[in-house]
Amino acid sequence: MPDDAQSFDLVVIGGGPGGYGAALYAASAGLDVALVEMHKLGGTCLHVGCIPAKELLETAAVLRTVREADEFGVQTSEPTLDLSVTMARKQKVIDQLAGGVGHLLKGRNVTVFDGVASLGAGHTVSISGGESGDAQVTGRHVILASGSKPRTIPGFEIDGTTIVTSDELLSIDRVPATAAIIGGGAIGCEFASALADFGTEVTILEALPQILAGCDDDVAKTVQRAFKKRGITVKTGAMVKGHSPHANGTVLDLDGESLDVELVVVSVGRRPFADLLGLQGTAVQVDDRGFVVVDDLCRTHEPGVYAIGDLVNTPQLAHVGFAEAIMVVKHMLGEAAMPIDYGKVPWAIYCEPEVAFAGHTEESAAAAGYNVVVSKHRFSGNSRAMIVNSPEGMVKIIAEKEADGSAGQILGVHMAGPWVTEQLGQGYLAVNWEATVDDVAAFIQPHPTMSELFGETVMAMTGRALHG
Ligand code: FAD
Ligand code: NAD
Repeated sequence: MPDDAQSFDLVVIGGGPGGYGAALYAASAGLDVALVEMHKLGGTCLHVGCIPAKELLETAAVLRTVREADEFGVQTSEPTLDLSVTMARKQKVIDQLAGGVGHLLKGRNVTVFDGVASLGAGHTVSISGGESGDAQVTGRHVILASGSKPRTIPGFEIDGTTIVTSDELLSIDRVPATAAIIGGGAIGCEFASALADFGTEVTILEALPQILAGCDDDVAKTVQRAFKKRGITVKTGAMVKGHSPHANGTVLDLDGESLDVELVVVSVGRRPFADLLGLQGTAVQVDDRGFVVVDDLCRTHEPGVYAIGDLVNTPQLAHVGFAEAIMVVKHMLGEAAMPIDYGKVPWAIYCEPEVAFAGHTEESAAAAGYNVVVSKHRFSGNSRAMIVNSPEGMVKIIAEKEADGSAGQILGVHMAGPWVTEQLGQGYLAVNWEATVDDVAAFIQPHPTMSELFGETVMAMTGRALHG
C-alpha cells in the first residue's frame, strides 16, 4: 500500500445505481466510503438509460392521451410535438435526480472523487484524469461497478446522426420520418413505441423468431400484435447485412430486401465496461465476453473485491444493481447475505402496451420440469381498463400442478397492458414468497382497479371465478 494513499473501509468504482447504491447503503451502516466516478453520478440509468427513456415514453403517452381525447368528448386538434421542450424537461428531471444523488452521498459523508479509477495490487485504487486530479486510495473492501456500454454491430459505425445507439437517440433534435430499429429487446421495443407515438414510421428488425426474448411467449405476442395495430412493422428472423448511406439516411440490406430509412437505432444489447479498470496485479478475472467473474455473492477471485451491476453476468437492470449492492455490503459487514434468485427478479418494460413479469414463463417452467396450471385473463373485460380506454393486454399466471390436478405454488406472473409496470408488486411478492394460489385468491382487490385482473386470474385457478 502506498504511504500517502488515503484509506477507507470501502472504495467503490462507478457511480451508477450499483455503485452509488453500495456507497449509500455502506455509509448508512457506518462505513467510511469513497466513490470514484469518471463521468456523472447516476450512471447509465440516470443519464442515458432508465430515466430519460421513461421521460420520452411519458411524452409519448401524453401525445396518445391528447390524440384519444375525442373518445371522451374532449375536443382537441391534432397535437404537435416541440421536441426541444421535451428534451429540456427530460434534462430537468435528470438534473434534479442527479443533484439528489450527490446530496445523499454528501449527507452520508461519502468522499466522492471525480476521475477514472483503476484497481491495482493491495486494494489500491489510482484515480486520474478528472477534477480530483491524481490520487491514490485504498479500501479494506473494493466494489467494481463500472457498468456497461451499448454493443454495436460490424458495418454499422455509430455516427450520431444516421446510425445511433440509445445514447444518441435520447438527445435527438428532430423526429425522423422513418426509422429502423435493429434489435427487438427492451430498448428496441421502448424506443419503437415512443418514436411511433412521435409520428415516425418504425420498423423493428429482430434476428430471433420473436421480439422481447425472455418474456413469456403470450406476452411477447400480445405486444407484437399491439405494435402491428399501432403501425409498427416487426420483422423477426431479420438478417441485416449492411447499409448504403445517402444524403437523407441510409438503405439497409436485409438479405434480398431493402429498407430506406432516415435513422437506424442499433439496440442489440449492452457489453460490460471493464476497459479502464486496470486490474493488473489482482486476481480479478474477466471472461471472454468482458464480464467480471463473480460467485453467487458477487465476490471476485481477489479477496475483498466484489463486482456488481451490469459489469457482471446478471440481468442488466438498475434494481438488480441496487440489490447486488445491498447483498455485498451485508456480506462485507459479516451479516447474513442471501444470494439473489435472478429467476425471480421483477422486470418492467415501458413500451405501449407495458410489460411486467417475475418468475417462470410457461416455457421455462416446463423446461425446469414442472407440471403447470396456467390461467390467462384479458384486460378487455376489466372495468378500469375500459374506463381509461386501454383494454389491450393480459395477465398470465403459471402455478405448479398438484397431484390432484389443482393449482398450487405460483411460479410466475406475466402481464402486458395498461400500467402493468405499477401492478406487478403483488405478483412479485407472490412468486418470491412462494405463495400458493389459495393463499393469494383470498386477497381483496379494490374495485374498480386494473389489479382486479390479477385477482381474477388467480381466483380462476381455484376452479371458481367471479367475472372471468
Ligand atoms: P452504470 O449505470 O453503467 O454506471 C457505471 C458508472 O461507472 C458510470 O457512471 C461510468 O461513468 C462509471 N465508470 C466506468 N468505469 C469507470 C472507471 N474506471 N472509473 C470511474 N468511473 C467509472 N434498467 C431498469 O432497471 N429499468 C429501466 O427502465 C431501464 N431502462 C434502460 C433504458 C436504456 C435506454 C438503457 C441503456 C438501460 C436501461 N436500463 C434499465 C438498464 C440500467 O440503466 C442499467 O442496468 C444500470 O444503469 C446498471 O447500473 P450500473 O451501476 O451497473 O452501471
Ligand atoms: P436485449 O438483449 O434486451 O435485446 C437485444 C435484441 O437484439 C435481442 O432480441 C437480440 O436477439 C437482438 N439482436 C442482436 N443482434 C442482432 C442483429 N444483428 N440483428 C437483429 N437483431 C439482433 O438488449 P437491449 O434491448 O439493447 O437492452 C440492453 C439491456 O438494457 C437489457 O438487457 C435490459 O436489461 C436493459 N434495459 C432494460 C429496460 C427495462 O427494464 N425497462 C429498458 C431498456 C434496457
